[in-house]
Amino acid sequence: MSKDYHPMWESLGLDLDAHDALLDFLGSYYADTFVAQPNRPAAMGYFDFVMSEVHGLRIEELLAAKAEGRKVIATFCTYVPEELILALDGVMVGLCAGASFAPELAEAVLPRTLCPLIKGFFGFALGRVCPYLAASDLVVGENTCDGKKKAWEIYGDMSERMVVFDLPQTKSSASRALLRGEYAAFARRLEEATGKTLTVAAFRRGAAIVNAKREALARLARLRAADPAPLSGLDGLLVNQIAFYDDPVRFTTQVHALCDELEQRIAAGVGVARRGAPRVLVSGCPMAVPNWKVPTLVERAGAVIVGEESCVGERGQRNTVDASADTLDGALDALVDRYLGIDCAIFTPNRSRLDHIGEMRAAYNAHGVLHYGLQFCQPYLMEAGPVEKALEGDGVPTLRVETDYGQEDVGQLQTRIEAFIERLEG
Ligand code: SF4
Ligand code: SF4
Repeated sequence: MSKDYHPMWESLGLDLDAHDALLDFLGSYYADTFVAQPNRPAAMGYFDFVMSEVHGLRIEELLAAKAEGRKVIATFCTYVPEELILALDGVMVGLCAGASFAPELAEAVLPRTLCPLIKGFFGFALGRVCPYLAASDLVVGENTCDGKKKAWEIYGDMSERMVVFDLPQTKSSASRALLRGEYAAFARRLEEATGKTLTVAAFRRGAAIVNAKREALARLARLRAADPAPLSGLDGLLVNQIAFYDDPVRFTTQVHALCDELEQRIAAGVGVARRGAPRVLVSGCPMAVPNWKVPTLVERAGAVIVGEESCVGERGQRNTVDASADTLDGALDALVDRYLGIDCAIFTPNRSRLDHIGEMRAAYNAHGVLHYGLQFCQPYLMEAGPVEKALEGDGVPTLRVETDYGQEDVGQLQTRIEAFIERLEG
């Protein structure tokens, strides 16, 4: 880090000893996982810098924004419309936790048999090691899976900053109306928090920023279709993870700079893996920072990951919002149109997710699909069976993985992943 941020962390009420230990662990884990990769594009240097300052400079920026009267809005789900937050001059940050921290504190208020993503958030919150949470003015939860619904009730009793909105579970016309109403109420809640008024011009401004970010990520995704792959799956995932933390305009510029370099690599036939290396599409539960366990195993076994059908990936980022609305009603309709296209496994039926996996596999020339399920995540674990059946029925090798944030299953996972990659080679 560029300077000593301990006074800032102390002012945010963090547990300094625990936070130091967390950063020590993250720093060496990051270096081993990312910096050690061979032949990385130079433009990944920006993203390395962001990660090195993820609890430092970025938090300082958030506090500077707050000092100017802007509000920091923390979120967990890709259904939260960043367009509205930016339109009302807020700053959005993602809070999903990709590591287990202080599980004993989390398990004092939650059942042990709960998905690690939710437990991770509670561990970070109760262990007082998350500066993003500490810097947030509102914490936005959403009623998606049962675990999250109940978690927000529990966290809502601990924090007055909690705001919950409802999400439909089907894509009927009644569901559209429900989501539209929830987005309208969310806009009012943001207006109260920020003291600003939502206007059509502000909506268009917010939508333009988010659309540009999503278009940059879509460009990056398309470039990963090349063989040899110009970017590792780990770095592709990292860029998608940083999309939830970084300033969106600066991030967009840097993603395009990376894409420019990848285009040069593709033209020169330069890649991070050999031409013809096994190519894997990862599909399933979101992988939040620093959840890099399975992609590391896949790429160390000689394959390259070419896409993420995930909310930290293409499922969450594909499709833009029509920013041409000339009324606020039209703006809400445009948001609902775009967001209901996210085919989260909490929806039923969810055929479009299956179609999207097939489209991504073909578009990025993947030889096989690894279905990634977090332990105790019923929606994705239940969809894993039909996904595998459909893909294998089409002759696409598929590996179902169910895991958590621990390292205990690494040996077993490695064996299964290596056997899967041998099958892809065959
Ligand atoms: S997987 Fe579902 S609940 Fe999780 S972030 Fe995506 S849309 Fe939200
Ligand atoms: S990973 Fe699954 S169980 Fe966990 S929060 Fe997301 S949908 Fe819910």
